Amino acid sequence: MTDGEEGLPLPWQEDAWRRLQAARRRDRLPHALLFHGPAGTGKNRFARLLARSLLCEQADEAGLPCGACRACTLQDAGNHPDLREVMPLEDKQHIGVDQVRAIAEYLALKPQYGEVQCVLITPAECLNENAANSLLKTLEEPTPGACLILVTARPALLAATIRSRCQKFAFPVPPVDQALPWLEARLRSGEDSRRLLNLAEGAPFAALALAESGGVSWRLEMLAHLEQLMERKADAPAVAEKWLKSGAKESLYGLYTWITALIRLRMGGGGSPGDADPEVARRLGSLARRMEVRTLFQRLDEAREALRLVERQINAQLLLEDVLIAWQQSVE
Ligand SMILES: [Zn+2]
Repeated sequence: MTDGEEGLPLPWQEDAWRRLQAARRRDRLPHALLFHGPAGTGKNRFARLLARSLLCEQADEAGLPCGACRACTLQDAGNHPDLREVMPLEDKQHIGVDQVRAIAEYLALKPQYGEVQCVLITPAECLNENAANSLLKTLEEPTPGACLILVTARPALLAATIRSRCQKFAFPVPPVDQALPWLEARLRSGEDSRRLLNLAEGAPFAALALAESGGVSWRLEMLAHLEQLMERKADAPAVAEKWLKSGAKESLYGLYTWITALIRLRMGGGGSPGDADPEVARRLGSLARRMEVRTLFQRLDEAREALRLVERQINAQLLLEDVLIAWQQSVE
């Protein structure tokens, strides 16, 4: 966090910021917070900014960190002793019990500088069962001055006992009139911000990531593949090979997004990637008419499961072939 803007909450997070800062001024900041909402809206950024605010030695009236004090400088260097960030270890998918025990030990010590100790756990749904059980004890016996912030895009995967011991803050997808200007300020000129935002289901950071990975044209190419498979003009192994080249995970996520869009269309909901693009809308409409909602939900489950498996380095080519063959067989 160096330039001025990075030290501010995002426009769509100002309300959450004000509420938390008001609670803090009354000395009522909950000792455990759960930030939940779709991926790509800036929850982690907000969590880090809040931690920075809590640790800053001269935060302003709005709670904004100064960016210059000892605490802010230490955080910039990534080694403030009163801030811990817990995430899955590099070679693991889960946050393990040892990591949670280390938090309890750390919280048993006094803060090194001020009166606050912050712990960020992200993504919190990665806590495995033992880790979650161990964390419960920490949540049930809060240390004065401790602030635990759990961040998740999938709160349903968190143990209910954990959820109920945290104060929940929802971070929904921002209104388009706030997301668009933010996105436009960060895109190269000539990029279609509205279309990106639609493809990312309204999540600004996801839209930006999509732009940076050349994602729009790839997503549209994927849609063409799905059409060709259904028309029997392409075969699953060949398409799987192309998808693998573009990254199995990114492709599966793209598939997931397209199926979600088709389900929305079948259910008559708005917010489809086709909203900003009549041509995409027409193509989605024609796919949606050929599939039952029930089948679409099955395909969605398979895509979700494949996404989970691909992270475990299961043979990605076969995994992709399986979901594409199932797709090909979905026509009524
Ligand atoms: Zn500071």
